[in-house]
Amino acid sequence: MDNLEQLVRPHLKGLSPYSSARDDYQGLPGIFLDANESPYGTLNRYPDPDQSALKSAISKLRKVPGKQLFLGNGSDEAIDLIFRIFCEPGLDKVLVFEPTYGMVAVTAAIHNIKLVSIPLDDHFQIPTPAARELFNDDRIKLLYICSPNNPTANLMEATRIEALLKTFKGVVIIDEAYQDFTLAQSWISRLDEFPNLVVLQTFSKAWGLAAARIGMAFGSVPLIEWMNKIKPPYNISSANQKDALEAIGNKNQIDAHIRSILRERKRLKESLVKLPVVVKIYPSDANFLLVHVNNANEVYKKLIEHRIVVRNRHAAVSNCIRISIGTPAENDKLLNVLKQISDEENIVY
Ligand SMILES: *Cc1c(COP(=O)(O)O)cnc(C)c1O
Repeated sequence: MDNLEQLVRPHLKGLSPYSSARDDYQGLPGIFLDANESPYGTLNRYPDPDQSALKSAISKLRKVPGKQLFLGNGSDEAIDLIFRIFCEPGLDKVLVFEPTYGMVAVTAAIHNIKLVSIPLDDHFQIPTPAARELFNDDRIKLLYICSPNNPTANLMEATRIEALLKTFKGVVIIDEAYQDFTLAQSWISRLDEFPNLVVLQTFSKAWGLAAARIGMAFGSVPLIEWMNKIKPPYNISSANQKDALEAIGNKNQIDAHIRSILRERKRLKESLVKLPVVVKIYPSDANFLLVHVNNANEVYKKLIEHRIVVRNRHAAVSNCIRISIGTPAENDKLLNVLKQISDEENIVY
């Protein structure tokens, strides 16, 4: 896109990225006396800064060229870098639709970027006209959309996202952390149409690698080049690169886990709605349920007493708790405790 370069913060344009001697030497084993590493040990060498092996596996899996793929220390690092590239502290703004993923507001605050927030509508969808009214403000450099959205669990309507992509002049981030739990098409398939689109995915949820901290960003070649230019050179450890590669090798197993989570999501929902303590369960395209209960603070506290931790989202959506789908045994335990809580309440009232 012509305007991508115009969106980049001016002081970055002359940046020479960090380079290591290893950049000049590819492939063959050699004697490495260039990086002040220890010659002893198993984790003694710096990791591959380009994450070539992992990138090529992901690129095959997602059918996106390696040059359009950035890997970060979690998606959180990708979000942070996007702020660094496009947002001038104290001047620029980011537009979000709330309730949504809390890290964006925190990252904006860290960078001294103003958060402009529009509430999602009654169906937790993006109010497109309200968003477009703000597009004249050229200080809004980023638009963050989470789909399926955390904590509301639903997909954002594709036609509305498309309308925003077509009219917004800044960079649009679509966070697909929960994409593996839905049948909807990923926005990765539309990258070529929208050079100012960045799609985020992660190994933290469906892939079972939250501890490894690996996030993916997919975008146009120039946008991904900028992310690579400003990232810390060794942002993903070799152990973690290896773990992610192994997970991709075991994709059948991962798919079986996803199927089990989806089965459990259905079962949990069907059982939960029968409990007196539950008022409503919102539709979910993710690995969690947003559950409206009679008193979120109470239910949350009582679950903690039984050593079950859920997320109290009362502040974001009135009287709602967010429940991640666990193993069948964990879900059974949750259901039993909630049933007990329901019974106790019936005695009290
Ligand atoms: C969990 C989650 C992530 C994952 O972040 P990582 O840094 O990759 O662990 C990203 N976005 C959303 C909306 C999430 O809920």
